[in-house]
Amino acid sequence: MGPDHGLIFDIQRFSTHDGPGIRTTVFFKGCPLRCLWCHNPESQSIHPEIMFAPDKCIGCGRCFKACPEGAIRPDVPGRIMREKCTGCGRCAEACVSGALSLAGRFYTIDEVVREVEKDSVFYKTSGGGVTVSGGEPLVQYEFVTGLLKACKDRGFHTAVDTCGYVPWKNIEAVLPYTDLFLYDIKQMDPDLHRKITGVGNELILENLVKISRTDIPVLVRVPVIPECTDQQANIEAIAEFLSKLEHKPAVEPLKYHRLGGIKYKKLGRTYACEETLPPGNDRMEAIRAVFERRGIEVVSG
Ligand code: SF4
Ligand code: SF4
Repeated sequence: MGPDHGLIFDIQRFSTHDGPGIRTTVFFKGCPLRCLWCHNPESQSIHPEIMFAPDKCIGCGRCFKACPEGAIRPDVPGRIMREKCTGCGRCAEACVSGALSLAGRFYTIDEVVREVEKDSVFYKTSGGGVTVSGGEPLVQYEFVTGLLKACKDRGFHTAVDTCGYVPWKNIEAVLPYTDLFLYDIKQMDPDLHRKITGVGNELILENLVKISRTDIPVLVRVPVIPECTDQQANIEAIAEFLSKLEHKPAVEPLKYHRLGGIKYKKLGRTYACEETLPPGNDRMEAIRAVFERRGIEVVSG
């Protein structure tokens, strides 16, 4: 990893949820947060990881032979002894059924650009572009800066989807090549923030204040997660904080969903929000109203 190689776990074409128009979203591995509800658990580690889907396994045994570490055994729950696994990916290459897959591979900037250029015609016609997401893309900020610059050189609109928990220098590096920030705000109470994400919120709020002093538009995204972020006092506090920023951002409340649950099983992990139910439409409407009352533009999530 570094300026020349980025560890990426997905490049999603025709995305319509990560900024305006039709976009290509590049998902980077590595995140400093451990949000309890995270729907991309394969994004969290900064190393490649093997995922195993037992329902697809045909029991051919090719993976046992392919693994140089002896890390795969049929009698081990979840199949993989993760303490031995180096993430080399040989088992996934050997697996013909698709039961094993490797989350994360290294790309050069040219390789990513070749991928995102495929949809340049759609960016033009829809007002779309390229979004870097994750994980936390600004953990790999040197590579991301180079990628965003390459996108701007080609006239593509660029968006950075960030949790904000990175040193300011990482954000500063991408400012000249960023057209839009998608910025997550989760919880205003620092102790509760630490409990649900593993880190405090001070740096995140500080960085948002600094970004709001630039002319770059910001869309703040608020994940609405029962028992984690969905307290009336928290929503009111977020609205109050945003209304005082130098350039008032727009807000997109994001309704919790449980689609990521299956990925935890594939990684041999347990999902802390297994039993959490999504908030109702009435609740989402009430949350939107809190922001609107303070004159904050609300984008539908
Ligand atoms: S990724 Fe490599 S080390 Fe890990 S289980 Fe597969 S073959 Fe073995
Ligand atoms: S190679 Fe794939 S299909 Fe064959 S035993 Fe291993 S996981 Fe199952």
